[in-house]
Amino acid sequence: MTIIMKGAAVATAMKGPLTAALDGLRRQGVVPTLAIIRVGARPDDLAYERNALKKLEGLGIKCRVAAYPEGISQPEFGGEFSAINADPTVHGILLFRPLPRQLDETELKLVINPLKDLDCMSPINSAKVFSGDATGFAPCTPEAVMETLNHYGIALSGKRVTVIGRSMVVGKPLAMLLVKENATVTICHTRTKNLAGICRQAEIVIAAAGKAKLITADFVSSDSIVVDVGINVDVAGNLCGDVDYEQVAPVVSSITPVPGGVGAVTAFVLAKHVVRAARYASEV
Ligand code: NAD
Repeated sequence: MTIIMKGAAVATAMKGPLTAALDGLRRQGVVPTLAIIRVGARPDDLAYERNALKKLEGLGIKCRVAAYPEGISQPEFGGEFSAINADPTVHGILLFRPLPRQLDETELKLVINPLKDLDCMSPINSAKVFSGDATGFAPCTPEAVMETLNHYGIALSGKRVTVIGRSMVVGKPLAMLLVKENATVTICHTRTKNLAGICRQAEIVIAAAGKAKLITADFVSSDSIVVDVGINVDVAGNLCGDVDYEQVAPVVSSITPVPGGVGAVTAFVLAKHVVRAARYASEV
């Protein structure tokens, strides 16, 4: 029987320690506060924002949304961003990306306080992830994958793991988090030859390509553990992952669904990051 690795179960397990940590901060008079910065109103940003507000406010984290018009200029947005970055009552920042063309993300990456950079924009946090230094903030989605694997008791040491995708938001940092746990990692991308064959050789396949139903039954075996990070819309207009779930789920050992898998864990990783950022601020 295939084990369905549900994000809700991971999130429930994360809630207890998070609530205790938040209570501890409140007893010290700290109100953990997140600033969500959004430019424009892309439907995927709005969906993420609604979910994050519901989950984080439900835990007692204060959230402030700073929303700006799509056409805001670089000087104006840079000024707004710097003011939030410098505000001592804001412990952590989540900036939705990609930004509209006229805005320079590189400039913001260099400006953001690494101690408030909850989704790994800053090169300082990237360097920490790549050097295995856990004091930095990894991007929330790769960390949600790690939380999911850990919750379901999947040992990583010595395991062959194939990651499909090499972005700085998911694929590359995820590969580094896996290497830190002593996995043997192969990173695949659009130029990879024989993707199905490479995936079949892996014990764990993690798909983060953003291509609906890319992973079919010939990519896996009965022992495969499959984690689907993709969020796509299929031809019928339904939300789906990178894995052809109907075809793959019955033939593998474990799999995360979409929706209801990794995506359901991400907001709780964000909450964990707010707690850490609030602690960093109270230690300064
Ligand atoms: P991206 O477009 O920046 O990167 C996709 C990567 O996949 C690229 O490195 C590319 O080389 C690779 N790729 C694309 N098509 C491929 C193919 N046919 N074969 C092999 N490799 C291929 O996307 P991203 O920002 O890394 O996001 C990846 C997916 O994860 C998207 O579906 C995105 O919506 C989803 N996502 C989910 C969450 C979550 O919380 N679950 C968060 C962020 C992103």
